[in-house]
Amino acid sequence: MKKEFVCIVCPNSCRITAEYDGWEIKHIEGAQCKKGEEFIRNEIKNPLRIFTGSVKCKNGNYQLVSVKTNKPIPKKYMKQVAQKTHELVLEAPVEIGQVIISDILGQHADLVATRKVKEKN
Ligand code: SF4
Repeated sequence: MKKEFVCIVCPNSCRITAEYDGWEIKHIEGAQCKKGEEFIRNEIKNPLRIFTGSVKCKNGNYQLVSVKTNKPIPKKYMKQVAQKTHELVLEAPVEIGQVIISDILGQHADLVATRKVKEKN
């Protein structure tokens, strides 16, 4: 199988063409560094992504808290994590870096706040 990927490891966004058979990579073209090859290996076997989203917040100066996973998690869990964040309602105050859900879905990554929300006066 031959497929084109865009490497998202760094801002260069190299277009990489890979020929592979199952999980075995036969040929790679277009990667400007070794990290690109590793990215393609992961994309073929188990693509990983950082989840970003937002969670509702009560009694704060903002109604939403932006959140992200502190590590990449398998892409296949993105919908489940989105569903969890949709169901959550936090209570202000919330600090940047505060763990909202630890070890989310058993993926060894925490969902953390990326916005500070102060309590409403
Ligand atoms: S292949 Fe290397 S240089 Fe190109 S986008 Fe990926 S990490 Fe960056």
